[in-house]
Amino acid sequence: MDEFSQGLEEIWSNRWLTNDGPVLRRFTAQLCNTFETDNLCLFNNGTLALQIALQGMEVSGEVITTPFTFVATTHALFWNKIRPVFVDIEPDYYTLDPEKVEAAITPWTTAILATHVYGHPCALNKLADIARRHNLKLLYDAAHAFGVNIGNQSIAHFGDLSMFSFHATKLFHSLEGGMLIFRDSGLKSKFDYLKNFGFKNEVEVVMPGTNAKMNEFQALMGIQVLGYLNEIVARRIKIAELYRDRLRDVPGIRLTPPLPSEIKYNYAYMPIEIDEQEFGMDREALYARLKEWNVYTRRYFYPLVCDFACYRNVTVNGPLTVARRAAERILTLPIYDGLELSEVEAICEIVKFLQTQNVPAHRMGSSVG
Ligand SMILES: *Cc1c(COP(=O)(O)O)cnc(C)c1O
Repeated sequence: MDEFSQGLEEIWSNRWLTNDGPVLRRFTAQLCNTFETDNLCLFNNGTLALQIALQGMEVSGEVITTPFTFVATTHALFWNKIRPVFVDIEPDYYTLDPEKVEAAITPWTTAILATHVYGHPCALNKLADIARRHNLKLLYDAAHAFGVNIGNQSIAHFGDLSMFSFHATKLFHSLEGGMLIFRDSGLKSKFDYLKNFGFKNEVEVVMPGTNAKMNEFQALMGIQVLGYLNEIVARRIKIAELYRDRLRDVPGIRLTPPLPSEIKYNYAYMPIEIDEQEFGMDREALYARLKEWNVYTRRYFYPLVCDFACYRNVTVNGPLTVARRAAERILTLPIYDGLELSEVEAICEIVKFLQTQNVPAHRMGSSVG
């Protein structure tokens, strides 16, 4: 808090509140250092960052994407007059199913936009292979994936471009904010123009840009939170491990299988799947019952994006069986660094209590006998 107040005083005395100020430059330099790249641009939020990415890369026609994501992934396509084509996800980690992507490619397809949902890495190699063989651009919505590494490499370096969101509800945040990291260094100046009305200098506007600049206060918050990122993740690992240990053997609860050992996960979310038959009540009922106990879970991501009224007419490739099942069965449990382990224990006890309350009589008989 002290450091933050000091930073605020610095901003006031600089008399520079936005438009590529010194604090933003410092934040940018820190991130370039963290991600070991200069191909990095900051924005006032992740949604505009993604819209600008698609615009700057001249993505058009159709884009293959996931329905199991936050709506902004699809909105960014729509704002660029691109037709989304929804393809199903795979059942373990809920990311776009590469086996189903190829069948959805048409002569109009120009790109794949996949989401590292919950921070789970997509099938990076398979998607890269499909993109290369069909000459498609490969973009990742990495809004949940800050801090995720594959071996020693950040997840930001896969595909042609990754978008990160620094919204206050995300693992890493700058109040609000967004970041693009990209392969082609030629895109940097284009993204910089697009986020600042297309201004090249005081008198030249080189393209019809928008206003998507990050301000000094956002950058200050980002610098502060970045300093605590390791602590935040370490805390979440403890919480997630406790949840996994306590919920592992509860009938009707399925945890995400352990990620491959080379993946360093960020523990951004704690999704569990509820099997109605085994658990004795469905996800909706558990969501409501937990609320009565003051446990606020989230139904990320329900409804599926393709079921929102504004996307009902959009192409859906196949029945989306896995995505529908996930949308109906997943709850994400509370996970944040201020959450006490005793509270995690209590949440697990409540879940177990609700489960035993609702087991149909014939199942109770068989499990006792
Ligand atoms: C949060 C989020 C966004 C949007 O980011 P903002 O910074 O809130 O605009 C986009 N995609 C996904 C998957 C998100 O979770």
